[in-house]
Parts: sequence; structure tokens; C-alpha cells
Amino acid sequence: MRKAWSLPDMRSAWCLPAWSLLKLLVMLASLVPFFAPVAARAQGAAAPVVTIRDAETEAFLRAVAHPLFRAAGVDPALVRITLVQARPINAFVTTGNRMFINTGLIQQAEGVAELAGVLAHETGHIAGGHVARLPEEMRNAFLKSIGGMMLGLGAAVGGGRNVGGNAAGAVMLGSQSMAMGELYAFTRAQEQAADQAGVAYLDRLGWSSRGLVRLLGRMQDQELLAVGRQDPYFRTHPLSRDRLAFVTEHAARSRAGDAAYPPALEAGFRMVRAKLDGFIEAPLTTGRRYPDTDPAAAARYARAIAQYRSGRADLALQILAPLVRDQPGNPWLRELQGQILFEAGRPAEALVPLRDAARLAPAEALIRTALGRALLEAGDPASLRAAIGEFESSLRLERDNAFTWRQLGIAHGRLGEMPQADLALAEEAMLLGDFPGARMLARRAEETLPPGPPRLRAQDLREAAKRDNLTPEQRAQDDAMRRRQR
Ligand SMILES: [Zn+2]
Repeated sequence: MRKAWSLPDMRSAWCLPAWSLLKLLVMLASLVPFFAPVAARAQGAAAPVVTIRDAETEAFLRAVAHPLFRAAGVDPALVRITLVQARPINAFVTTGNRMFINTGLIQQAEGVAELAGVLAHETGHIAGGHVARLPEEMRNAFLKSIGGMMLGLGAAVGGGRNVGGNAAGAVMLGSQSMAMGELYAFTRAQEQAADQAGVAYLDRLGWSSRGLVRLLGRMQDQELLAVGRQDPYFRTHPLSRDRLAFVTEHAARSRAGDAAYPPALEAGFRMVRAKLDGFIEAPLTTGRRYPDTDPAAAARYARAIAQYRSGRADLALQILAPLVRDQPGNPWLRELQGQILFEAGRPAEALVPLRDAARLAPAEALIRTALGRALLEAGDPASLRAAIGEFESSLRLERDNAFTWRQLGIAHGRLGEMPQADLALAEEAMLLGDFPGARMLARRAEETLPPGPPRLRAQDLREAAKRDNLTPEQRAQDDAMRRRQR
């Protein structure tokens, strides 16, 4: 599990693009670059939020979301899901078919049905093109702000830390010129449309919408409790009640009724929720939530992670070993064993479980990168070539992973292959928005590589990193990077 990139906290309740857009406006208005943390605190900015990369969680989310996308006629390849570490129950979509899911949504869901209900609703927003149908000035402000965010996000994939462009100015403009009442009416219609579409997708899959009923019910309870501290929006628009009534009525007459979800999805959900709890909550909290008396696989998983996070690698491995024996085909357990051994400074031992994980889940870029890192650090010069092979496999699956490019550069460097190292590090710099660095590295690679595709790639990178060829947002990033390097 790898964390990346920070953004101020989002306190919005799930969801709607424009509703979360409003929250995003507030959030972005307080967006302060991470290199100015003092200023951030002085202005009362919220705590930073982190995006999380984890192969198991991502595979699970795909397993729930992709059938819904297909039921909606949306090509799953066109939607990108990003996991945000944040406690509130929330998910939202932005332009470019990006779906953001808070870890809190998974952690607070009581079963896969609740999560599927929210994802169905979000899919309704995507299929309905709701972000694109926002009033023009609002959409323009939104696109500008999201453009900056996406730049940061793309850069962060794989562990780099970066912050999106400063979009606060553009966003403020949008929120001021838009009459709030109009927006409320508009988003309310979108919410109803997304609910109607969402339950239809669930029906098509034979998935019960009662999970959505339960989740909306709990959220309404929370709203009633917290009424004094509510956003005016919730006070003036009892939206959850309307939505709850509609979804309840639908669930009562749906053929899917109380149908159980596929057992593999339920089991996957419990493991993912336990993993997120284990990695995000304090080990003491995890210990209380998953006491030693609980023999379930998910409980043991969470306890193993809590031990690992408490620095007790051996104890964590002891808890994991029987789980692996029970589930020999589970790549994520093997991946975690490898991660624990690697982090404990035992990369050679990490190779065995990581090779198993890569064999069990060959198309998971993050696992290939983890295996490559263990090979890189195993201390055996012969394994450097194998490490390069793993990084290259990983990049074929996920080309925009800056962290993997960096590891590839290190591996080439250790073999004394400096032109190849420069090229890989130029790719990394480009993804991180370090255009001056990308220009320098790409030029050096271009000058030293023999003729062939790698040299052409170096040339392309140098051209792309040229100031004249940057978008206005990239140019601003270029300026910021130069100021920081000075
Ligand atoms: Zn919505």
C-alpha cells in the first residue's frame, strides 16, 4: 500500500459532482502548496488528504465498478478510479471520467451492497454526463481547477509527492458568479437522475439496492444529529429524505430485492475493509475492532497489518502464515508478506512471496514494481537485470507510474548504463512536472544513446519538456519548479 500526494480535507457528504464541486471549491480555495505549510495553517486549511495506491483495493473496486459501468454502457477502460484517504463517506466524479472514492466509504460500509449502491449512483453521473452539463461558467471554473489537480495526481501515481496547480483563483471566480440557488436546483435534479440510473444498473445486474437504502438511512440519521453544524445546503434541501424515499420504494418492488451479492465480492470487501482499517487506523483501534477472539480471515488480516505497523514484523508474519496456507491462491497475502519482509530490511527473503504474488496476479503493475524493488535491493548484481525486467513489465501495464520509472533508472545506474538511466529518470521528471529536470536528462540521454527507439523517445521527451511546448498550466508548474530549485 502506497500513499501519494496531498490535498486539503474534503468534508462533503456523498456526493453529486456539483455538490462535491461546491465542496471542492471550498477545498481548493484553501489549497496551499505543501512547501508552505505554515501559511496553510495560518489560513486554517484542513489537514492534508492522501491518495492511496493498493493493488488489492484497486482490483476489488474494479470488480464492483466494472459490471456497473458495463450495465450503464460505459467503457470501463475509460474510467479511472482514485482512492482518497479521507474519513467521510464520499465518492464523486469529475470530468475525464475520473471517479474518486474515499477510504471512509469502504471502511464505514457494512457490506459490498452499500459500496455498490454508491458506485451505481456515481456511474449514473458518468453515464448522464452530469459534469459536462454543469452551467458553463461553473464547468469552466471546475475544469480549470480539476486540470491543476489532475496534473498533481498524475504526477503522484507511484509515490511521488506533488501538488496540483494553484486553481484557487479560477475557482473563486466560478463560485462567485454563480447564483447558489440555481446550482442547488440543478444538482438536485442531477442527484435524482443519478439515483434513478443507479438503481436501474443494480437491477440489470441482479444486485440488490437495499444496501443503498441502508447507507442513505444512516446518512440521514447523521444529518439529523448534526443539524446545528450543517451546511446551509442540507438545512434548506432535505435531499437525503427524498432520495431515501425513492430508493426505498424502488428496492421494495425490485426483482433483485434482498438478493445476496456474489460471495467473492462479499469476501473481497471484508478483506479490503480490514486492510484499510489496518493501514489507516491506529493499531490500538484495529485491535479493538478485530479482537484476537475473532477467527475470521479479515480479522487476522487486520491484526497482522496492525502488528506490522507497530514494528513487530515477525509477529505479523506469524499471523499471516496460516492465512496463506488457507488461501494459497490469494496474491495479496503474498504481496503483504513480501512488503513486510522488504520493509524489515530482508529483501532476499521478500523475493519468494513477491514472486508468488506476481505469478498469481501477473497483470498487477504495483506487484511487478514491488518484486523489482526486492530484486534491486537483494544485493546480487545478477538480479539487477531481472529487476529491470520487472520494472519494464510494470511500465507496460501502467506507463505513468513515476515511482517505477525512478526504480528503473536506479537499476540501470547500478549496472553503469547511464544513458538508459537518464532516459528513465527523464520519464520520471516529466511525470512529476519537473520540466527543467526532464529537459536536462532527456538531452543527455539523446546525446549518449545509440540510434534507435530509446533515442527517439529521449528526443520526444526533450521536445515535450521544452517551454514553448508546455500548456499554460505546465508552464506555471515549470516556473514553480524553477523557483524551488533556485
Ligand atoms: Zn451524486
